[in-house]
Order: sequence, then C-alpha cells, then structure tokens
Amino acid sequence: MSPQRTIVIVGAGFSGTLVAANLLRSQHWATTRIVLIERSASVARGKAYADRDHPYLLNVPAGRMSADTNSPLDFLSFAQHRIPDATAEDFLPRALYGQYLEATLLDAEVSAPPHVQFERLRDDVCAVEKIGDGSGYRVRLSNGHTSADSDAHTLGADSNGRTLGADTPGRTLHADDVVLALGNPPPGPLPGTEELQQYVSDPWAQPLKFSPNETVLLIGSGLTMVDVATAAATSSNEQAVIHSISRHGLVPPSQTQFSHSACNGDSASMLRAASFSALTLLRSVRALAAETERRGGDWREAVTFIRNIAPALWQRLPAREKRRMLRHVRPYWDVHRHRLPSETLAKLNRLRHRQKLHIHAGRLIRFEAVGSQIRVTWRARGAHELQTLLVDRVVNCTGPDYNVRRSSDPLMRSLLAQGLAVSDSHNLGIRTGQYGALIDAQGRASASLFYVGPMLRADHWEATAAQELRGHAERLASYLAAPVGRMRATATA
Ligand SMILES: Cc1cc2nc3c(=O)[nH]c(=O)nc-3n(C[C@H](O)[C@H](O)[C@H](O)COP(=O)(O)OP(=O)(O)OC[C@H]3O[C@@H](n4cnc5c(N)ncnc54)[C@H](O)[C@@H]3O)c2cc1C
Repeated sequence: MSPQRTIVIVGAGFSGTLVAANLLRSQHWATTRIVLIERSASVARGKAYADRDHPYLLNVPAGRMSADTNSPLDFLSFAQHRIPDATAEDFLPRALYGQYLEATLLDAEVSAPPHVQFERLRDDVCAVEKIGDGSGYRVRLSNGHTSADSDAHTLGADSNGRTLGADTPGRTLHADDVVLALGNPPPGPLPGTEELQQYVSDPWAQPLKFSPNETVLLIGSGLTMVDVATAAATSSNEQAVIHSISRHGLVPPSQTQFSHSACNGDSASMLRAASFSALTLLRSVRALAAETERRGGDWREAVTFIRNIAPALWQRLPAREKRRMLRHVRPYWDVHRHRLPSETLAKLNRLRHRQKLHIHAGRLIRFEAVGSQIRVTWRARGAHELQTLLVDRVVNCTGPDYNVRRSSDPLMRSLLAQGLAVSDSHNLGIRTGQYGALIDAQGRASASLFYVGPMLRADHWEATAAQELRGHAERLASYLAAPVGRMRATATA
C-alpha cells in the first residue's frame, strides 16, 4: 500500500523518539509513512541519555520520568525488570533511561497499525525546503553515514529485521509534514578562548578525561558543571583540582521527597495576577514558597507548582519585563528549578570539603596562553581587585546557547535564511505557535512544519525537562494523526 502522506522527524533524541512512538501508537486518517532521521549511531539517547564512561544519574526520581503521561509509572516498571528493588523515589542511571526510550519506540513500532509504515534513517539533515506549489517539503540529507555503515545497525533495522535507510549521498526526501526535534545546541562562544589549545567548547562533544594533578576551570556552576566535576573526580582519583566560576556562584540544591498538594487554584490566580512585572512575580513566588514552608511543606512544592503554570505566566509578561526576568531572576529560578539527587550533591560537597572543588562567584575578564597552560583573570562578585588562576584546561559548562542567530548548524541556518523559522526576541530559541508550529518571517504559523524540544522555551519558558517535552510530543503526534490533519492538508494544497 503506497502511503498517502509522509511525516519526516528530524532528530531521534528524547523528543523525536517520543513523537515517533506516539505517532506509531495512533490511528491515522490516511496511510502514513513516518521517517525518523538521526545523524548519530544511536536512537533515543541524545546528549542526555547516552552511554558514557561515567554512570550519570537522572536528576528526577524514577516515578516522575515516564515517557507516557497516561502511564506515570511506566519507566519505573521498566527499571524494576533490571533493578528489582528500584523505587519511585530513586535516581536511576541516565543510560538506563536511554534504554527505556529505545524500548518504548520498539514496542510502538511492533504494535503499529498496518497502514502506518516506519523507517529509521541514519543521516544528517542539512536543509528543509518548502516546495513552491505548497505540496510539502524537500528534506535534504548530507553525505553522512548510511545504514550500510557497520555501526548503524541500531538505527537501520525495522522490527522485522529489514535494513532501512540505505541511502545515496545528497539524496532528498519528500515530506508532507516535518517535525524538527534537533535538541540542545552547543554552548555559546566565550570571547578570548578562540586561540586557546586547552579550551573545551562543549563538554558533551567527546568524553572528557582529566589527568591526575591537573587544574581545571569549569565556567558555569549549574548541572553541566556538576556532571563534569563529579566525573572528573572519579576519572582522576580525585587528584584534579577544579575551579568553577559563574556570575552568582549558585550550586543546585538537592531534591527531596515531597508531596504535590500544598498549592491550589488560589495560588495560581495570585501568580497570574502578579505576572505583569518581573518584580511582582518574583515577590509572589517567594511568598508562595514561604507560605508552603510555613504550612509544613517544602519550597520545592511551590517550584513544581509554578513550573506547571509557567507557560501562562511567561506569556502574560510584557516584553520589557521578560528582559528583566531573564537578567535578574533567571539564575535564581534555574538553580531552584534544576536540582540534584542528594547522592550527587553529597559527592560535590565532599570534593569541596577536600579542597578539590572551589566554586567562585565572579566575572571572567580575560584568558591568556602561558606555555601549555591558561592564565585566567577574573573579578570576584562585589570586589574591585582582579585575581588570576593558572589552569591546565578551561571547559565551557555554561549550557546550551539558544541564540539561533549565531547558530552554525546548516539546517538551522537554512531555515532562518528561507524565513521558515525566526529567532525569538529574547534569544531563547525559535518562535512557535500551537503544537510547536514554526512561526515564519511573516508571522504566520506553519500548517506542516513543527518543532519540539528545548527551544520551545521561547514561548513556554519551561520546556527542557522530560516532563514538559513528553507532553509536547504527545500533543503534536495526536494533532498530526487526527482527521483535522486532512483538512489542514487540503486547505494548504
Ligand atoms: C546532560 C543532560 C541531562 C539531562 N537529564 C535530565 C533528567 O535527568 N531529567 C529530565 O527530565 N531531563 C533531563 N534533561 C533534559 C531533557 O531530557 C533533554 O534536554 C532532552 O533529551 C531533549 O530532547 P531532544 O530530543 O530535544 O534533544 P536530544 O535528546 O539532544 O536529541 C536531539 C537529536 O537530534 C539529532 N539531530 C540534531 N540535528 C540533526 C540533523 N540536522 N540531522 C539529523 N539528526 C539531528 C541529534 O543527533 C540528537 O540525537 C537532561 C539534559 C541533558 C543535556
């Protein structure tokens, strides 16, 4: 049966995998071909859930990491087949979560209805171009890997063992609908590091190994810094001395077990009423957290509650107040919102106690190469005088750079150049409408080009964690599968 339409999903990390799994579980209005394209050898892993040398832990307990909102303990049941005594409150390995996502996709593939075809393709999408007559998109593939590559088997076989995606270099695919699930961009450029030999611009680009007695500067003090510092301590038997410098020197606090019941509709109304300025919103958030604690609860309950209504609060703020929020409030929100398993925080505190990890609040002034080392000049927060540090390596742990205007990714550049995507004015990502429909340069929401992933933060504020992204993936898949899709397609033809 030849398909009546093709949906191409670019990127098979968390978001792309879940869009594909949800589409495979759906009843479609027409015979549908789904093509999932991933440039790397593994599907469902992305940066977050890859197999790595260090056993990184999820920063969310197993009971809250289901990939399916209708089955909240789905991940826990999967984990218990491998770790029988795992509980909902445990922080399990990220690599295990990657296996879970792989299994989720495979299950969906095996049970997909007969009128849905599924193909996995290993390649790099370098452009998506709108076809002039409105009949969809041309998806351009680079000369990257093909499923004939020896390590491509994880991606290149369907549930019947057939090899898929055998591809010719430079090939294009036709798509009626395209879902972009491109993941987190690498960290932004750090002025002054361009000529430095010992500078690591992206800690996730390749495995980082530290030698004993090495002195390392990590720029940033959030979750990436914690990952790099704890892994460095293990790989170098804790001989490496690590410095971290960030503007505020704030380290994420630990997770705790807490219930979700303290805040209610009144709290939501109070926050909505306050979301006309960054300052009033901040005051209300603080008041809600204090009130929660006064009632015997945990401030984390208030943060979780606010996170769930964050899109509405963010969208109500005027542009000027959004800028204030980003400048003054964001570091504090981020540090309270993104927390650590207590085991990881204990590791970090041990390193600090042994003087192996020093966390500084301050500003970087300059970097200079001194032989094989780097002299870093910086100013501590609130101080006048400058200080220097001599280090063997500098690692950029500032997190993803969502300013797509300076993206070097060919696909993103091509989307921007054609006006199919536009950056949001706060450099948080790209502009999207309902279901992640891309907003084009004329301000129109596309009927057939969608984005799902962390850059939804431009319109939703909170869009980086599994909990938010799984919801976006589910809603987009059911929109694409529903009969309304046919009306959409007819209207745009
Ligand atoms: C280190 C880390 C740890 C995290 N831990 C947690 C956690 O414990 N709990 C939680 O809730 N959230 C966590 N998150 C957040 C969240 O789960 C991730 O950000 C999520 O993986 C984002 O999914 P994604 O599909 O958008 O991006 P990714 O998972 O990164 O996937 C994007 C994929 O697209 C592919 N791709 C990109 N461009 C192209 C192209 N042009 N052609 C072909 N393929 C392409 C990439 O190779 C990649 O595989 C973590 C994030 C990170 C980075």
